[in-house]
Amino acid sequence: MRLILLGPPGAGKGTQATRLVEKYGIVQLSTGDMLRAAIAAGTPVGQKAKDIMARGELVPDDVVVGIISDRLDEPDAKNGFVLDGFPRTVGQAEALAHLLEQKDLKLDGVIELKVDEGALLKRIEGRFAEMQARGEAVRDDDNPEAFKIRLTAYRKQTAPLVEYYTGKRQLMSVDGMAPIDEVSGNIDAVLDGK
Ligand code: AMP
Repeated sequence: MRLILLGPPGAGKGTQATRLVEKYGIVQLSTGDMLRAAIAAGTPVGQKAKDIMARGELVPDDVVVGIISDRLDEPDAKNGFVLDGFPRTVGQAEALAHLLEQKDLKLDGVIELKVDEGALLKRIEGRFAEMQARGEAVRDDDNPEAFKIRLTAYRKQTAPLVEYYTGKRQLMSVDGMAPIDEVSGNIDAVLDGK
């Protein structure tokens, strides 16, 4: 199974990806996680991405396409994968299509988690306030200001992928605002109905 999970930050892509990993025995490929690991390791990619990520903006396409291309070649990706947070621009989607063709791999589909942006922002503001009150560490880009920039980046740069994948007849949309188990059930249903 080879899937893409599409949706704004905070929509629950990571949560649903984890479930798909267990169900299909595939790997979760999160460019956000990979970039955070690169920052922690102090690699050149990490150094390039650090400030951009903290601001909530997107790192350049060539950086993430390079990471994904290498990662797809790892043995554990042979069984299938769920891409979480990639592609995020039409350029990345085109590069991915090219990579998959080169590697002779076919995508099974793109699952869009549809959400209400206003409700998402309220959720993140609440979560941020609670974590601060408890004195817990939050991600650099998980404060309400950076989150707003991440949402704007989604709307401007990533949302066009809905049309892109609809045009390729690969898009399957589910209501991402439903309770987690219901979202999972709806994902199963659209995948079964394919
Ligand atoms: P995420 O963990 O998916 O929310 O990603 C966190 C941050 O990493 C994003 O706000 C971007 O700065 C960066 N990032 C992750 N994936 C991508 C991508 N595919 N293209 C560009 N930037 C990305």
